[in-house]
Amino acid sequence: MIARVKQSSPPEHALCSHKLFSIGKEILNYTRDHNEAYPDSFEDLMGSYLEPNDLICPFTNNKPQLELPVSDWSSYILVHHINSVDLNSPDSPSNIVVAYCPPENHPDNVAYVLFADFHIRECKKDEFLKLLKESSIKYIPKEKIVKNN
Ligand SMILES: [Zn+2]
Repeated sequence: MIARVKQSSPPEHALCSHKLFSIGKEILNYTRDHNEAYPDSFEDLMGSYLEPNDLICPFTNNKPQLELPVSDWSSYILVHHINSVDLNSPDSPSNIVVAYCPPENHPDNVAYVLFADFHIRECKKDEFLKLLKESSIKYIPKEKIVKNN
């Protein structure tokens, strides 16, 4: 499978967007290995592409709960409506949301959003909500199901 390059630690504030970018790279690797099929969920990426800790935002205290579905404990949200988008295309739309880390995961309440051209935007919460609304993505804040208190 794809060997992932270990990189030196980025600055603290960049950790979440860095992880999101790595997730994006593995989504791309997945599509290349699966005749351009997009993963249905992060479950499809587990093991071969991503390790459980890859899905934990460094700003949260969440821990992977391997007995539960990934969506129950993952900090990151994979958007499911872009199956028709060719993620390998160089002209993939830069305004299609692929995945995000929601604002409630971050102390400054910003969201990190990964687009289909693999750029990442840091959005204030109102900007994030507007973006999801424009993209017809339903946003359900996770009232942290898994929390270490
Ligand atoms: Zn995050």
